[in-house]
Amino acid sequence: MEETIRRFKEHLAKQHAYEHALGVLYYDAETVMPRAGGEGLSRTIGVLSEESYRLSTAPELKELLQTLLENKAAIDWVTQREAEELSENMERMEKIPMEEFVAYQMAQNEASRIWHEAKVNNDYAAFEPHLAKLIEYQRRFAGYMRPELPAYDALLDQYEKGLTMETLDAYFADVRAKLVPVIHAIKERGRKIDDSFMQKQFPVWKQRKLSDFIMQVMTIDRACCAIGEVEHPFTTGFNKRDIRITTHYHEDNLLSSFYSVVHEGGHALYELNTGDDLFCSPLGTGASMGIHESQSRFFENIIGRSEAFLRFMHPKLMELFPEELAGVTPHMLYLAANKSQPSLVRTEADELTYSMHIMVRYALEKQLIAGTLSTKELPAAWNALYREYLGVDVPDDTRGVLQDSHWSGGMFGYFPSYSIGSAYASQIYAAMEKELAVPTLVEKGELAPIVAWLTERIYRFGCLKKPAELIENACGAPFDPAYYTEYLTKKYSEIYGL
Ligand SMILES: [Zn+2]
Repeated sequence: MEETIRRFKEHLAKQHAYEHALGVLYYDAETVMPRAGGEGLSRTIGVLSEESYRLSTAPELKELLQTLLENKAAIDWVTQREAEELSENMERMEKIPMEEFVAYQMAQNEASRIWHEAKVNNDYAAFEPHLAKLIEYQRRFAGYMRPELPAYDALLDQYEKGLTMETLDAYFADVRAKLVPVIHAIKERGRKIDDSFMQKQFPVWKQRKLSDFIMQVMTIDRACCAIGEVEHPFTTGFNKRDIRITTHYHEDNLLSSFYSVVHEGGHALYELNTGDDLFCSPLGTGASMGIHESQSRFFENIIGRSEAFLRFMHPKLMELFPEELAGVTPHMLYLAANKSQPSLVRTEADELTYSMHIMVRYALEKQLIAGTLSTKELPAAWNALYREYLGVDVPDDTRGVLQDSHWSGGMFGYFPSYSIGSAYASQIYAAMEKELAVPTLVEKGELAPIVAWLTERIYRFGCLKKPAELIENACGAPFDPAYYTEYLTKKYSEIYGL
């Protein structure tokens, strides 16, 4: 058994090395690679992903996994869970022919490059054939991996195990029924919120200092976490001691980067605080995209957009921007950070209307994957849903169907994790509040006890526990979306005096 475990860990280290290299290349492409570097990168990705595919489906690994899984009682918990995860992954991968897998990786890299240009140029026509190709691949892969499921359910399952259209249809119907009346009430009789003081010029070099301060307050260890600048902020990590968050500075919008850093910082805290026993293990990461987003959106919204946090941040903001923010009180900041208004761009949306943006994407993805909507018809369908769900007219594809990077990265079935994650976050907060005086801590800028609470119940487990177990572990009860709609209704009724 000892020898089997040793060989298994050796195999894991090799697989991890390929993933590490691919991850660094991806990060490099998004941050500093010159535009013309794409073609060479594509070839390298082809070679590395072929090797990575071979490793994850290798016959030697299959034998090792069989021995380990037949002797579960004789091995430790971490090794057992690693064997289970790799075995599931192998089962999925084996069903996808290697040539198709490699061709897909290269197609995805190409689509991502074209999308960047198409977005800048408002040129959906240039991106459309690439998108059609990725959808075709995803539909085929879904059929290979889980032939017994509708294709979109198979894709959802990759990001949130067990999540189905049936569950999501009911979830979104409920969220829509509860939140649309609040959105309408704000429009009809909510107080007017003045955020005109945010329409100033905020020098980027000062915003960089603000990012450093936010990361420090969030207890993010800079020896293990770097911050880069990109068009579309994201977080990636290679192991718990090398996490990369990113942001985008807009001179005329202070809150945009502010909340990007808090959001990505939430992702980083999760990865940074996975257990030491999971260092460089495939389990040393978030349990699912929904749980990951629950952490980023917990810090971004529940902590970051709370009155307590803005009271704490106020002196720092006044120190950095004394002229720009002259006369602005903490309460004015709080209202500005929570102004609710149906809008065009998901990443700039307020908490209340956010899930409407997700519903648009969910409705479209279902049809694209089912084959009932073509990529040619997509922009018109997108615009129609924005009118229906948010009451806004989409002026161009840059602020419409081209706004997000997910589809160009072949990620279909990912978007619902944002909404589910927000709902998890509300429930987690309700549980945390029973044990910690959260607003009191936040107002003093003491986030360490909050991070420790989350580490104890969620972070340290990495992928050792499944999403549903983690929610039970943190909340003492199964997932209940009512916390989300109640939290939003209460918060926004107070803000708008409904
Ligand atoms: Zn996120």
